[in-house]
Amino acid sequence: MSARRIEIFCPKCRWRPNPASRWFCKPECGNSWNTFETGGICPACGHAWAETQCLKCGQFSPHREWYHETAVGGPAAHNKKKKRKEKRLAGAR
Ligand SMILES: [Zn+2]
Ligand SMILES: [Zn+2]
Repeated sequence: MSARRIEIFCPKCRWRPNPASRWFCKPECGNSWNTFETGGICPACGHAWAETQCLKCGQFSPHREWYHETAVGGPAAHNKKKKRKEKRLAGAR
């Protein structure tokens, strides 16, 4: 059992947004908010943003691609064992 953590960063340049980061909605809405607190949904007009622009590199990426699941803590002994087994199987051709 290893803990998993979701990390949020730009899939293009790995820039990490912080709580003070703000994204702007459509001009007719004019709202600015932290899009990762709402899963890409504007709290003012309810528009769901499928893509999120990086404030660092300026490129758009699908919102869900900003979420990266990483295993944290503890030696991944179980994974290592599994990998070794797979290798052996591959070599026994
Ligand atoms: Zn970026
Ligand atoms: Zn809006």
